[in-house]
Amino acid sequence: MAIGTLLYEGKAKKIFSTENPDHVVQYFKDDATAFNAQKRGTIVEKGVINNKVSERLFRLLEQRGICTHFVERLSEREMLTKKVRIVPVEVVVRNVVAGSLAKRLGLKEGNRIDPAIVEFYFKNDALGDPLVNDDHLRLMNVATPGVLRELREMGHAVNKVLKPFFTERKMQLVDFKLEFGVFHNKLILADEISPDTCRVWDMATGESMDKDRFRKDMGKIEEAYQEVLARVCG
Ligand code: UDP
Repeated sequence: MAIGTLLYEGKAKKIFSTENPDHVVQYFKDDATAFNAQKRGTIVEKGVINNKVSERLFRLLEQRGICTHFVERLSEREMLTKKVRIVPVEVVVRNVVAGSLAKRLGLKEGNRIDPAIVEFYFKNDALGDPLVNDDHLRLMNVATPGVLRELREMGHAVNKVLKPFFTERKMQLVDFKLEFGVFHNKLILADEISPDTCRVWDMATGESMDKDRFRKDMGKIEEAYQEVLARVCG
């Protein structure tokens, strides 16, 4: 597989072209950012872990009939994916109150949310990825009502697969962020699903096993990511 030119560099990944116009390579970096990139650091081996965790979860979702951009994992840090046009909406699914939801609404962290809720954030660094509703996204011509309905349904469908998968591995899937892209006129799941983009709490101890350890300087970040890898892929 000949890797082509750098098409895009984000905070945690680089995207390269390939000789196939329908495919790109996602390269997973160890760089970590939080609070709209105001906090920066490195999590050793994060790229390798996130690549493998994403592979496992994308394969699982594909088995359950959810279309993803995953094609194959090429190496420790490289994943071959379908080349999509990313929809600039972050789809957040929540099973437990945490993070920005607790702050915004004054709700108690740790309270269960059943049935799960879906939120949309407009992907825009300059604006700090604001929380938006369907009308805002329509106003900005970001997505049609049909696409928004699909995003919401796919968010719930992914949760129906992932929540029990994590529970079986003694982890509580608190919340997670998904991104979708258009591939030949079809909406498919893209980006990554990893401890960078999910909140995962150990069911025995309640401890965070995800990027919150980096955000809040809780220590033992690498150990937590390795433990998620072991439980997801083991
Ligand atoms: N999230 C993410 N990227 C973002 C913002 C949020 O992956 O740019 C994930 C985050 O890790 C968590 C979920 O989305 O699993 C909900 O995050 P929240 O809105 O609570 O914001 P945060 O507390 O991370 O600022």
